[in-house]
Amino acid sequence: MQFIDLAAQQARIRDTIESRIRTVLDHGKYIMGPEVAELEAQLAGFSGVREAIACASGTDALLMSLMAYDIGPGDAVVTTPFTFIATAEVIGFLGATPVFADIDPVTYNIDPRKIDEAVGALKKERPELTPRAIIAVDLFGLPADYDAIDEVARKHGLCVIEDAAQSFGADYKGRRAGSLAEVACTSFFPAKPLGCYGDGGAVLTANAELADKMRSIRIHGQGSDKYDNIRIGINGRLDTLQASILLAKLEVFADEIQRRQAAAGRYAQGIADIPNLIAPSVPDEYASVWAQYSILAEDSDHRTALQAALKKASIPTAIYYPKPLHLQTAFADLPYKRGDFPLSEETADRIFSIPMHPYLEADQQEQVISALKTA
Ligand SMILES: *Cc1c(COP(=O)(O)O)cnc(C)c1O
Repeated sequence: MQFIDLAAQQARIRDTIESRIRTVLDHGKYIMGPEVAELEAQLAGFSGVREAIACASGTDALLMSLMAYDIGPGDAVVTTPFTFIATAEVIGFLGATPVFADIDPVTYNIDPRKIDEAVGALKKERPELTPRAIIAVDLFGLPADYDAIDEVARKHGLCVIEDAAQSFGADYKGRRAGSLAEVACTSFFPAKPLGCYGDGGAVLTANAELADKMRSIRIHGQGSDKYDNIRIGINGRLDTLQASILLAKLEVFADEIQRRQAAAGRYAQGIADIPNLIAPSVPDEYASVWAQYSILAEDSDHRTALQAALKKASIPTAIYYPKPLHLQTAFADLPYKRGDFPLSEETADRIFSIPMHPYLEADQQEQVISALKTA
């Protein structure tokens, strides 16, 4: 059994992918070819925002967003400690200071009240830092609570960035992930819900001014032409070949989202009967895109036993994420210690993910559930 079955997806769309790639080989515009603009139009349409800026990775999307807001040394950016390193790495990379706020133990997403507390504490205890932004992460494909986050952001005058690397295709109160903050970032890393065959990402925004700035940042701070540079930027373009692959994948993406929902429904039913496991819960008016299907064991020993039992039954599992960011060596210079974010720490000790992808069959899920039951 595959954890994420990219081969099954490829078998379904192989002809379209090959013909898309052949088109790129024929026109030869490998950098910023026509497929990039075509993809951007489709991404914007899909998420319901005006502007999409394709780029080289989800990490570059986050970096370009922070650069567009001129975030740098002396600025503080609030985010969750329970996420992939890239979310907070870009803050540190620009010389700004990550400030963590603990998660909601049910959704695993940043708790808006904890953001308020963190900003309050920061103003009192570290007046040399200016709180500037919040990066909320839609973990495992489930959007964070943007209505509540926006309220805190307004109170403190912060901008909000949506890290939608795992949630492209999800919904929140009738709006699509990628449209839930002024600027949203997504990733096309192969294992994400919409993935290419290499690295890729995009920024989505309704703000035309920020979009123009990010288009410039994406290409070395380009001005009116290639050799006019008006700011410090990066080489953050998406390859035309990757755009062409994403265009092929977008043709089946809506159907794949439905298949993910069906698979998640089957898991939820099966896991509900297992008393010492907690299945993910999706609040009313939210729809996850199920980048991961992550369940909670009773404690770390229980998790180890379950993972071993599944491995014996040839079922792959993974832990996202075993170490919260405030405990990472890379952030050792931040004033944090174990115990500061107890909900993130406890979740990191108990959580693990089971196979999830659009091509998961009901009988494979039966195997997973029965292996969990007997463990
Ligand atoms: C994958 C991911 C990123 C980074 O995306 P890349 O394309 O790998 O650079 C950022 N944030 C989160 C939450 C992610 O899952």
